[in-house]
Amino acid sequence: MNSFDLSALVRDNIKQLKPYSSARDEFSGSGDFTFFDANENALGSVGSATAYHRYPDPYQRAVKAEIARQQGIRPEQIFLGNGSDEAIDLLFRVFCTPGKDAVITMPPTYGMYQVSAEINAIRVVEVPLTPAFEIDTEAVLAAAAELCPKLIFICSPNNPTGNCLSAKAMEAILAASGAIVVIDEAYIDFAPEASVVSWLDRFPNLVVLQTFSKAWGLAAIRLGKAFASPEIIAYLNRVKPPYNVNAPTQAIALDALAAVAERDALVRDILAARAQLAQQLAALEVVDRVFPSDANFLLVRMAADARTVYELLLADGMVVRDRSRVQWCEDCLRITVGTPAENTALLERLLRIERLLAEKE
Ligand SMILES: *Cc1c(COP(=O)(O)O)cnc(C)c1O
Repeated sequence: MNSFDLSALVRDNIKQLKPYSSARDEFSGSGDFTFFDANENALGSVGSATAYHRYPDPYQRAVKAEIARQQGIRPEQIFLGNGSDEAIDLLFRVFCTPGKDAVITMPPTYGMYQVSAEINAIRVVEVPLTPAFEIDTEAVLAAAAELCPKLIFICSPNNPTGNCLSAKAMEAILAASGAIVVIDEAYIDFAPEASVVSWLDRFPNLVVLQTFSKAWGLAAIRLGKAFASPEIIAYLNRVKPPYNVNAPTQAIALDALAAVAERDALVRDILAARAQLAQQLAALEVVDRVFPSDANFLLVRMAADARTVYELLLADGMVVRDRSRVQWCEDCLRITVGTPAENTALLERLLRIERLLAEKE
């Protein structure tokens, strides 16, 4: 068993912090009150939106109650932020002392862990996935034992490789390491595997990240979720900006949570389109390999120079993600599943590029 001691991981200044107490922190009663406490504009809002003149609930209680009900957890186990990216940044600021602490990432993976680390002046130690895109458990545990990192980032399904990582490996790292283990499940709704949210009772050092940006189709509202012990969530709440999730976002999220069946239908359609796109891409000469995906995108190894293909697609107004300079992703493009019409147009363009490149040879 690990020697997990939450208090020992938290930065001293955060433990000592007296958080800002907003007007809505000091008074949150319900009922018939008149508010003279927050210097809002009592008369209304400028523009066609009239209902936005009051500050939003700083703890998003209505949204959390519904998420808690759907996920079978308690509201105190939920943090909501301005995208998952806010949760990632807050984890650095709660746990990592600039210039001193280290974290572990497993490239190729999501770029924000590195960027957030650099913003916070935290050393990133990379323990790459194996060439088969699996966690190198022994190497991670050896690095963790040597470095005592504050955070270990695991992304499953992983971006940009698209695959779910081994549950056994994730459990082994959670059990053996005294660090906070962050499992980023941005794409979990597209995966056959179950969420690790159900592990929260077993692992006090687990933080699970999810988002409204992908399966829910709500990237524009910027709403990310972190699930963890009430103690970890309380630390994130101490450090967050008081009103970090705005009122329109909370209202739109509540509306979406009442329509889960719509999300499931979108996911079903995307999975069907993904299967078809994968098959059609694999049949192209210009494609060397389509990697299996548990997400809403495909990692595709090109049989031609990936940068050239990327630029030819761009010239035709089609933007894919060039991952060819990323470790283990040489010659690879990452392609998000589009609408059926968009996918057909992409395939047609790739076929033309294939012919163009064959003529040049
Ligand atoms: C898209 C994505 C997110 C989502 O970030 P938001 O800030 O919630 O939009 C998080 N993690 C990974 C790995 C992603 O690919």
